[in-house]
Amino acid sequence: MGTTANFQVLRSAVIAASDADTWKKALLEWDVTSLEEHPTSDGVCVCGQTGLLWMYTIANEVNGAELYPIGSSCVEHFGRTDLNRRVDVLYKLAFVQAAANAGKAVEMTTEFFSRAALKFLFEEGAFTPDSYNYGDGANDYEFLLKMFGKRDKTTITSKQRYKIRKLVSDKIIPFVLADPRVV
Ligand SMILES: [Zn+2]
Repeated sequence: MGTTANFQVLRSAVIAASDADTWKKALLEWDVTSLEEHPTSDGVCVCGQTGLLWMYTIANEVNGAELYPIGSSCVEHFGRTDLNRRVDVLYKLAFVQAAANAGKAVEMTTEFFSRAALKFLFEEGAFTPDSYNYGDGANDYEFLLKMFGKRDKTTITSKQRYKIRKLVSDKIIPFVLADPRVV
């Protein structure tokens, strides 16, 4: 099945599960809610595309309907920046989770994070208030954003490195492992 045929199947499935009855209106009703990794890359997208490794769930915010699994290329068909951004964030967090489960180091790099992923973690409450952040998780978020943005990572001091490691191990990893949106 070609891309066009896949898109038609996706569009029909989305419209059928939406309150609106046109694609243009229906696509506005949906949000990307979770990501699951298929253990053997054998997921089959709602559109019929086979060989999915990363399987997203999308949910209709109007009527509560869910479609699963959906591949990231099908999410792109919605043409919505916010949905594509959420796809990227969940993807990054899945890498954090996989590394944590494998006992591998999670670095403040683009392999595991993005500005949007850090923002997501902050907004979702991963940076709990404590005495180190003076009771405000925004301080952790701003610190990590600054460290993430450093082009020359050698300018990060050992004290800053320690703080990054602490925030990753004490806040980010426990949050991601407990987050039902990343399975
Ligand atoms: Zn698809």
